[in-house]
Amino acid sequence: CGIVGYIGSEQAKEILLKGLERLEYRGYDSAGIALMDANGVKVYKEKGRIEALRGVVADDAVGATGIGHTRWATHGVPSHANAHPHQSESGRFTLVHNGVIENYQELKTEHLMDVGMTSDTDTEIIVQIVEQFTKQGLEAEEAFRKTLGLLKGSFALALLDNETPGRILVAKQKSPLLVGLGEHGNVVASDAMATLALTDQYVEIMDGEVVVLTENAAHISALDGTPVSREPYTAELDA
Ligand code: GLU
Repeated sequence: CGIVGYIGSEQAKEILLKGLERLEYRGYDSAGIALMDANGVKVYKEKGRIEALRGVVADDAVGATGIGHTRWATHGVPSHANAHPHQSESGRFTLVHNGVIENYQELKTEHLMDVGMTSDTDTEIIVQIVEQFTKQGLEAEEAFRKTLGLLKGSFALALLDNETPGRILVAKQKSPLLVGLGEHGNVVASDAMATLALTDQYVEIMDGEVVVLTENAAHISALDGTPVSREPYTAELDA
């Protein structure tokens, strides 16, 4: 299981698919990507190998922003419906998640009684709760932060918002996650291996931090919004 994301000036499709292939060693049962362009987000996912995912991604799929996932099922069988990315009810938010949300049943009962769920995963509750909080008036980033504060367990997350398209919201707890800073865009990945073709400059993300990743910057902050500054390091791995 692993995640990868890209935001920049190049087409994200091959960057994501190649990145997922480089995460194959972590083991998985399904895979998916979401691509965002001016017309919104399109999700492609499939049970099985990245090869199978390649078979369902439209030839003309475009987007210079995207997120990808290889799933190792913990809640819900390996299936198309349970594969990531997962979307909120209105389609506004799109999420990939590695890890396990231990209190997902409680959170579902407390926040999502009126929401129709489309998967059996612990993951879907995250993206649905973010949307519920925005319906109550919060900005997307505030809704993301508030949701993170509720989660128990482990996660590496990358979230797309149709209404603020120039960024990927990122967070982690007990699951590995790095941000990579490239000349033609920035990346997020479970392992630098996934994105070495794009950059060797990485910034480690710590538990409890939020990253607002844009084409030109990675703004890291604590959960309460306090800015964090951290220098990138050079990943010395062979691409
Ligand atoms: N718990 C999530 C699921 O079962 C994520 C699993 C993973 O880390 O791939 O869908």
